[in-house]
Amino acid sequence: MDEKTGNTQSPQTILTHVGRHPERDRGYVNTPVYRGSTILFPTLDALESTEPRFDYGRTGNPSSSAVEELVTELEGAAGTVLCPSGLSAISLALLTVLNAGDELLVTDSAYQPTRRFSDGVLSRLGVTVRYYDPRQPVGLADMLTDKTRAIFVESPGSLTFEIQDLPAIAALAAPRGISIIVDNSWATPLYHHPLALGADIVIHAGTKMFVGHSDAMFGTASANAKWFKALKDTHVRLGLCASPDDCFLAARGMRTLALRMKEHSARSTEIAGWLEGREGVRRVIHPALPSHPDHAIFARDFSGAGSVFSVLLDARPRAALAAMVDGFGLFAMGWSWGGYESLCLPIHPEKIRTFVPWTEAGVMLRLHIGLEGVDDIKADLASALARYLAS
Ligand SMILES: *Cc1c(COP(=O)(O)O)cnc(C)c1O
Repeated sequence: MDEKTGNTQSPQTILTHVGRHPERDRGYVNTPVYRGSTILFPTLDALESTEPRFDYGRTGNPSSSAVEELVTELEGAAGTVLCPSGLSAISLALLTVLNAGDELLVTDSAYQPTRRFSDGVLSRLGVTVRYYDPRQPVGLADMLTDKTRAIFVESPGSLTFEIQDLPAIAALAAPRGISIIVDNSWATPLYHHPLALGADIVIHAGTKMFVGHSDAMFGTASANAKWFKALKDTHVRLGLCASPDDCFLAARGMRTLALRMKEHSARSTEIAGWLEGREGVRRVIHPALPSHPDHAIFARDFSGAGSVFSVLLDARPRAALAAMVDGFGLFAMGWSWGGYESLCLPIHPEKIRTFVPWTEAGVMLRLHIGLEGVDDIKADLASALARYLAS
């Protein structure tokens, strides 16, 4: 039994068996793609029945409930709803808990589109949006007002990988009835359990690790018993749903999530450690490294690492960066992560941060460590660094 989630089965067993119904699906191992809008009812009684059932394409089908069951079990949630992207799961969660006149606190390390939704849409709807220091839960207490209704947490933060002290944030929020939304895309429910640490709603960019093969857009939002009904109602009212094809790809990806995460965790940690101290590398920002400023919180609240981390290189001209990234053999540049293939992206947190300006000198890269041979990945990075320093 997992004491954190109350699950009686291991995550590996849940990932292998939950959300599959061969007895219903003519013996097929995987829940097939149930593609459709119209669902037919043979009688008036069937049409007017209030029994739980599938009644219309948007409100669910066996392909979508397969993934909902899986994520609900893994997160130890009261329930899960599916969205067409991770960002729509974030906007759904925020729209569920906030009303006009409320204040929202967002970690300054949040994924940039989360900020854009908060600043560009929630502000327009009468919500006051403020950013807080991801590393200062104590300072956070002074920012709370009687209008604060929600705190958005992303741990580790996008690009800069601060680990937030979720239990400390929950201790501030709970007595005041403030709800907590956590973006748990990096660690996945295998390595971090925000609901057990005091969060109310957990979202995933399922596009990343759940799908795992860079070939579908997908999002999930899971809530505790307090918030699930409101989350579900808001989901229905907004008209959100995920394509049955993408649900199938997410369910299929998740069958191997535990294996993939084990590899991603070990490799990203190994390669981050290997990069540390190399010529041209100023700092490696990976929560599993003892050098990470929040490593103690990581060690306490996480049981493994994600695939992505950041590296700060000594400042060099743009041409050196171009020589480095244009000449990669295995790594490629792309705006995503979570697939089986390694990615590298030059990043600019200094252009995004507002509450705590990002002032560290140097050129910053975000790496996603894929499933290639570890020695091949190291060789690609070693020659990339050599090109960077030589240009
Ligand atoms: C990619 C990402 C999202 C958004 O997911 P999409 O499916 O691209 O909308 C949200 N949070 C984090 C941390 C991400 O990396």
